[in-house]
Amino acid sequence: MGAASGQQFLQRLDSTPREVWYGNNRLTGDVSEHPAFRGVAKSLAALYDMQLRPDLVEMMTYRSPSTGDPVGASFLQPRTVDDLWKRTSMMRVWANYSGGMMGRTADYLNSSLMAMAAGSEFFGRDGRDFAVNVQKYYEYVRENDLLLTHTLINPQSNRGVGPSKQADPFIAARVVEKSSDGVTIRGARMLATLPIADEIVVFPSTVIRSGQDDIPYSIAFALPVSAKGLKFICRESFASDSPYDHPLASRFDEQDAVVVFDDVLVPWDRVFILEDPDRANRVNEATDAVVFMAHQATVREAAKAEFMAGLVTLVAETIGADQFPQVQEKISEILLTAETMKAFLAASEASARVNRWGLLAPDYVPINSARNLWPRAAPALAVVLKQIGASGLMAIPPEEILASKARADVDKYFQAKTADAEERIRLFKLAWDAAGSSFGGRQDLYERFFFGDPVRMASAYYSWYNKEPYKERVKELLHRKDG
Ligand SMILES: Cc1cc2nc3c(=O)[nH]c(=O)nc-3n(C[C@H](O)[C@H](O)[C@H](O)COP(=O)(O)OP(=O)(O)OC[C@H]3O[C@@H](n4cnc5c(N)ncnc54)[C@H](O)[C@@H]3O)c2cc1C
Repeated sequence: MGAASGQQFLQRLDSTPREVWYGNNRLTGDVSEHPAFRGVAKSLAALYDMQLRPDLVEMMTYRSPSTGDPVGASFLQPRTVDDLWKRTSMMRVWANYSGGMMGRTADYLNSSLMAMAAGSEFFGRDGRDFAVNVQKYYEYVRENDLLLTHTLINPQSNRGVGPSKQADPFIAARVVEKSSDGVTIRGARMLATLPIADEIVVFPSTVIRSGQDDIPYSIAFALPVSAKGLKFICRESFASDSPYDHPLASRFDEQDAVVVFDDVLVPWDRVFILEDPDRANRVNEATDAVVFMAHQATVREAAKAEFMAGLVTLVAETIGADQFPQVQEKISEILLTAETMKAFLAASEASARVNRWGLLAPDYVPINSARNLWPRAAPALAVVLKQIGASGLMAIPPEEILASKARADVDKYFQAKTADAEERIRLFKLAWDAAGSSFGGRQDLYERFFFGDPVRMASAYYSWYNKEPYKERVKELLHRKDG
């Protein structure tokens, strides 16, 4: 099939049965028409359509090595500078579409799967050919342009002890039994963004440090979302049907769900890691999946920082606050973040190296620095928007007011230096959606945590970073014999 169109994506979404719980309803019928999902489904469809647009198809796709058909560029295993550039360009087009507000466009997990497939040898294990499973799964997802969701972490029941020491050893998803058909999984994982995906991949994220009892939890596999016993329990939706009132939530609320595995059978050909803490702990680094995921994330983050810079500048100009030095200073903060993220990206690409699996991988030093800086820098983008938007962020009456008897008052009192009332309200609603609404609050949380716990990430960064040359320079100065 190759690169999918928006229509093909929507048809798949509506024809795939899945157990997705939203409140007291299990979703039935056309998911693409459900109020909680129709906005984001439409946006995802628009992204797929971009792949096939005559003016973009060359950049967004490449020729499948198996069929020669165009397939999405995020599946491309980069061997050359041009390949890497193609990946970045494609990801930037998708990121710009939502102003970086959609974290889980397909390129995020495609990048991970692409890297794992290149390093599939890593998965090989006596008796079961997990390496072949990974490679075939990558080809299957690529050729059918499937959308993946994923879940890495165990439920947040008691973080003080490992998964086997929870109140019930089956709270965290684990192996129950193995048979000739496959592996049965029971328990739950949190959190999977985008339960309207086609497939779910389950990978370990946090290092499994504990002993033998935790071995059944060290697993990796993939399943169609229609798998029997697989359930998604969604949070409240932030979506809305009004692009005027909720310009971001109405389009980009990706939804997040806790995933329950009610004795779900994973066929052997979908198992990638089984009861193997060593591989579970090393898979992301060993295959460079983390590098390529972080690369995609940095592209999106740069796009988001630029979008936020544009938004806050427009807000300031609209109310004539752009002339004040402290406002300019705050906007400069956002511009600096955008430039920093782009500089990390450029540096990582300029010093890309061929990894042990033959891929031209972005340099991990700048890309790992970007992934550690972002959870610290991103929350400030919303803070600046609030500092400059101030009470204007609450002068945002619902759209209906424009058709009411109060319209004359609105036109007079909501006008601003560079915008009439309708346009000013439209802009400030966008600012509120980005910085303060339920959607904006979720964005804040997402940027802080989507790549893992920033505290543990920073601790790992500290241990990993080669600080020796810097220490040596200090020691040399300390003991320098002048003259
Ligand atoms: C909006 C959103 C969407 C997400 N989407 C996905 C997704 O699609 N797929 C996915 O797999 N994950 C997703 N995540 C989850 C993300 O991977 C986790 O939030 C992240 O790994 C942190 O884990 P946690 O939330 O369980 O926090 P916890 O691990 O429960 O941490 C809670 C607090 O305790 C501290 N803490 C906990 N344990 C330790 C420890 N051992 N040492 C030191 N401090 C500790 C942390 O620093 C933190 O302050 C999403 C998260 C959010 C917020």
